[in-house]
Amino acid sequence: MSDVDSWRVPLADLEVDEELVEEVARVVSGGWWSMGPRVEQFEAAFAAATDARHALAVANGTAALHLALLAAGCGPGDEVVLPSLNFVAAANSITHTGATPVFCDVFGPDDLNADPADVAAAITPRTKAILALHYGGYPCEIESMLELAAREGITVIEDAAHAPGARRGGRACGTFGLAGCFSFFSNKNMPTGEGGMVITNDDDAAARMKLYRSHGMTTLTWDRHRGHAASYDVVVKGFNYRLDELRATIGEHRLRTLPAENAGRLRASARYREALAGIDGLVVPFHAADQQSSAHHLLVVVLPEGVDRGAVRARLHEARVQTSVHYPPIHSFTTYAESAHRALPQTDALAPRLLTLPIFGHITDEQVDLVVTELRSALER
Ligand SMILES: *Cc1c(COP(=O)(O)O)cnc(C)c1O
Repeated sequence: MSDVDSWRVPLADLEVDEELVEEVARVVSGGWWSMGPRVEQFEAAFAAATDARHALAVANGTAALHLALLAAGCGPGDEVVLPSLNFVAAANSITHTGATPVFCDVFGPDDLNADPADVAAAITPRTKAILALHYGGYPCEIESMLELAAREGITVIEDAAHAPGARRGGRACGTFGLAGCFSFFSNKNMPTGEGGMVITNDDDAAARMKLYRSHGMTTLTWDRHRGHAASYDVVVKGFNYRLDELRATIGEHRLRTLPAENAGRLRASARYREALAGIDGLVVPFHAADQQSSAHHLLVVVLPEGVDRGAVRARLHEARVQTSVHYPPIHSFTTYAESAHRALPQTDALAPRLLTLPIFGHITDEQVDLVVTELRSALER
């Protein structure tokens, strides 16, 4: 029995229909597996779904971030501001441009997104960009960050890894800044296994990211395969960050099922919120947010102060309910200790209290109720 089967409620779960299996099988039989027409089709569909001018499919979300930061001109000597309550990929991608990550704080237990006042406080003459995360699929206060960036003459990039389908004021997350970066990792809302997408309305940024995606080469193997180009030049020192046809096929399918996936998550989140409301001292963040606007990637709770999170997780594990922690703050990791020079009181106070509960599109009411019952009993012991 696999680990996924042994959980009564896994943290995340994939639903696979016959149509998806058949679509992928057709591409497998088709004879061209690397980046080609299916990737272009996926990009066009994603651009249409987000109302973005350009969408570039990439190998993973981290590659999307790296390309966007390069398009913003980040390099040695620059600083990029980002919340520490975040996945480490964000800080790593900044570091790999040669720039330095500078961590900012979040609002607190009611809202785990970056506090624009602390983003402003983190800005120095060296700041090149703000990397704005939409935590858990809840849109952050992007307008404040755009205003701040305009005033300072810097760039906003959106880490929309949690936010496929999330909107703010009707507009897709990922379309506010210079570029928006999505991840299609297995446990995200729109998984392809590995995969990502970077979207932008800026023609120059799109052209730059396209070059860096494939070694800085001016033509693609697919073009030469079709006899549309005989040779190429290399104009920047790029990477291989391409997506392949198989994953693009999965991605296009997942994009079609995303509204149903997110609707299921919205339902589950509402049920959790109602059932958890009575637990003394426990906070379910984003209770004041517009729930319709969220992609509900994560269902995070802030445990009552003083609770031993490790013990609660162990009891839930015994009950075969899978949990996680999003996230150990990046500034707490050994390799980022030297970047931990700003005080982050909200993040530090929250970090030991965060607990992520299972959520996915087809989670049943019974599963949600079971998680809540087990959590209640774990907290009472
Ligand atoms: C998943 C994730 C990434 C990285 O995406 P990968 O596809 O795993 O490379 C970046 N930022 C955040 C916030 C994420 O959750």
